[in-house]
Amino acid sequence: MGDCIFCKIIKGDIPSKKIYEDEFVYAFYDINPEAPTHFLVIPKEHIESVNMLNEKNINVISHIFKTIKKLAKELGISEKGYRIVNNCGEDGGQTVNHMHFHVLGGRNLKWPPG
Ligand code: 5GP
Ligand code: ZN
Repeated sequence: MGDCIFCKIIKGDIPSKKIYEDEFVYAFYDINPEAPTHFLVIPKEHIESVNMLNEKNINVISHIFKTIKKLAKELGISEKGYRIVNNCGEDGGQTVNHMHFHVLGGRNLKWPPG
């Protein structure tokens, strides 16, 4: 998608602090961290939100969660725990329309969110 900032990050047109990438996913640190560890995991395919998941693209979700598990361990937040957040649509607080999963850790997170 031409004007999608996350597609541009995947292509390298916008710089990012990359943690991991493979054929299907890209993981990088959030530019505005809300926790000592805050990174995003996104599919390389431009999928706008969870609302756009279908039989053809749904497999990327298991790949994203496998990646989250692996990176959480590597970054040292597995044991104490972390939070995975997906904001979907306007009321969900989604500001970038390329589906992404936030992973937050390194501090005790409050619940419920605002
Ligand atoms: P949302 O509010 O859509 O769930 O989350 C979007 C996230 O993307 C925000 O936490 C925001 O800080 C992050 N973000 C927006 N633009 C950029 C960028 O250019 N680079 C990086 N690394 N993160 C970004
Ligand atoms: Zn995109």
